Amino acid sequence: MRTTVGIIGAGPAGLLLARLLHKAGIDSVVLESRDRGYVEQRQRAGILEQGTADVLRAAGAGERLDREGLRHDGIELRYDRRRHRVDFPALTGGRSVTVYAQTEVCKDLIALQLKEGGPLLFEAEALAVEGAATDHPRVRFRHDGREDVLDCAYVVGCDGFWGIARTAIPAELTRVFERTYPFGWLGILADVPPSHDELVYARHDRGFALLSMRSPSVSRLYLQVPEGTDAEAWSDDEIWAELERRFETDDDWTLRRGPITQKSVTPMRSYVHEPMRHGRLFLAGDAAHIVPPTGAKGLNLAVGDVVTFARALVHQRETGSAELLDAYSRTCLRRVWQAERFSYDMTTLLHRAPGATPFEERLQLARLERIASSRAAETDLAEGYTGFPFG
Ligand SMILES: Cc1cc2nc3c(=O)[nH]c(=O)nc-3n(C[C@H](O)[C@H](O)[C@H](O)COP(=O)(O)OP(=O)(O)OC[C@H]3O[C@@H](n4cnc5c(N)ncnc54)[C@H](O)[C@@H]3O)c2cc1C
Repeated sequence: MRTTVGIIGAGPAGLLLARLLHKAGIDSVVLESRDRGYVEQRQRAGILEQGTADVLRAAGAGERLDREGLRHDGIELRYDRRRHRVDFPALTGGRSVTVYAQTEVCKDLIALQLKEGGPLLFEAEALAVEGAATDHPRVRFRHDGREDVLDCAYVVGCDGFWGIARTAIPAELTRVFERTYPFGWLGILADVPPSHDELVYARHDRGFALLSMRSPSVSRLYLQVPEGTDAEAWSDDEIWAELERRFETDDDWTLRRGPITQKSVTPMRSYVHEPMRHGRLFLAGDAAHIVPPTGAKGLNLAVGDVVTFARALVHQRETGSAELLDAYSRTCLRRVWQAERFSYDMTTLLHRAPGATPFEERLQLARLERIASSRAAETDLAEGYTGFPFG
């Protein structure tokens, strides 16, 4: 098998890249180790920055997004039983975000790819990238019980944090920056209309809580839990009771309860792999970097990477110059580190670190007060949340 761009992974990064290349008349093959149902059902991100929504629209994947996505003009910060709304358009010159689940983004992109795009092979597991530093990189993969080889001009590893692509970059050329957090998020999906029409980020002495949503009838809620917590150790009643405690306010706001349809625990990690390119192998999305979900940045970073790669490849085809491809890692990492900083700031602002001293807790409240009382501090949060420009 032969193609111009071999793409490993059909998460948001791989699927959007295949679509952008198809629109530019560049052929690709996508290899995905899981089956279609798994990829379409995996519950993860839900907040699209304005730039991400614009890219999906331009790629022809905006129809259902515009019909079913929920535009959000702000978030609420909750602390000390008080509520403070951050108004995005007022602070950022009109920017907003859209609530539209990653599962739906993937469904839309898969449908487009199967209808109009190049091959998208499910249950095709990439085993190794070979010859990354040569002009003829190859991906060895297994499909239908047989081993095969995909010969490419370029390989893009969009295979997520547990993928194999980045292992093809020699260790002596690699630097990894990493931080793990001593807590995770217990996330639930519940068949109940959201109790608030915007996301609520709550800092509480018992730990962080987030109220989010997937649609007008489905709530997504999270609780900070100790690292290594088993989701099944929490009964549904215990989850609702703890959420109620952490969201409590001095006014008459109440949390609506409903049937919980899914429960899982997500660990929290910050991770950056540098460089994001070696020869003709490029890394995009979670394959190169992870952020804790507090800043809602992971999916949006993946989109930024593949937009940068597609632009660079088109530039090379049109001008013969590889300057943008050569700058790929540097260009992406500028945005990645801003998102890492923002996600770290949001995480440390809102979570209760085990062993935090009373002094540190007071500082946390002072940081929240600063955001609530200073337009400059609030603008910084709003700019970060609605997204940093693509490189
Ligand atoms: C609970 C949770 C909540 C989140 N919330 C948000 C949010 O609100 N906003 C946000 O922006 N981000 C959020 N994120 C992060 C976001 O989901 C990820 O950043 C995003 O999925 C990254 O996309 P990706 O395509 O790079 O990687 P992935 O989505 O991980 O896709 C990688 C794909 O590669 C496939 N693959 C792996 N190995 C191989 C192989 N060897 N061969 C072939 N295929 C392979 C995998 O099966 C997978 O389909 C959240 C994540 C979690 C876990």
